[in-house]
Amino acid sequence: MSLEGKVALVTGASQGIGRACALELAAAGAKVVVAARNLAKLEDLAAEIRQTRNAADAAAAFELDVASEESIKKCFDLAEECCGPIDILINNAGITRDGLMLRMKRTDWDAVLNTNLTSMFLCIQQVLPGMIRRRQGRIINITSVVSQLGNPGQANYVASKAGINGLTRALALEVASRKVTVNAVAPGFIETAMTEVITLEQKEKLFARIPLGRLGLPADVAHAVGFLASEEASYITGQVIHVNGGMYLAG
Ligand code: NAP
Repeated sequence: MSLEGKVALVTGASQGIGRACALELAAAGAKVVVAARNLAKLEDLAAEIRQTRNAADAAAAFELDVASEESIKKCFDLAEECCGPIDILINNAGITRDGLMLRMKRTDWDAVLNTNLTSMFLCIQQVLPGMIRRRQGRIINITSVVSQLGNPGQANYVASKAGINGLTRALALEVASRKVTVNAVAPGFIETAMTEVITLEQKEKLFARIPLGRLGLPADVAHAVGFLASEEASYITGQVIHVNGGMYLAG
């Protein structure tokens, strides 16, 4: 699979799954724009990609706060100015603000919905006109296994991720005739900062629910993203691809 000549933008690329996706796409030959709030981490990642690829234009880093429409516009304008039209958009940035519904604050509901879901609407609008005009494009949204399983204490997060699945299906139907594909990747429990808070006891319970018997790695998710971004995946659209060690089957 080669992504030679393609330009990809990954949101939330400063660590975890987003970082792994950026490395995966870069390894396949794409020019990668990495974006998030932590510019220092992004600069390190971009430097690593440039060095590995031995190419000064293999990666660029731009600050992005996906909760701000202004920041999104600025980042995408700079990205296109520097690297050209975006062929592959990985909507990965996401947060949790867990709590039981009875006590959930409106601010925690809004923060999660804005960062995880509304951000995707806004980022997609930045790249969609160009993709439609050029009759090519890949949009890959990072959702979660809990979008379909549910999870107590995460009503805001689960609602945002279920929204992403709906957005993915509807948009896939809208743009299929223009050869733009839209898919979602649903990780199970992946070892990143987001899941660092899980206690050992909780992890042991989790292992029992994962037929493959381990937590996932960011690269496990990135491999699926890399495939969906490739030419070889051109007949796949509107799907939610699960990467969870069989957890979804086990329920
Ligand atoms: P993580 O290590 O906490 O990384 C989250 C990334 O999102 C960071 O790079 C962060 O960068 C970025 N981000 C957060 N808020 C942002 C904002 N307002 N603007 C721009 N970037 C923002 O978590 P992760 O596990 O890699 O999560 C990545 C995605 O996978 C999320 O959508 C998450 O919901 C999903 N997911 C994760 C798991 C899991 O088990 N880990 C499971 C299912 C789904 P900055 O702080 O630098 O902005």
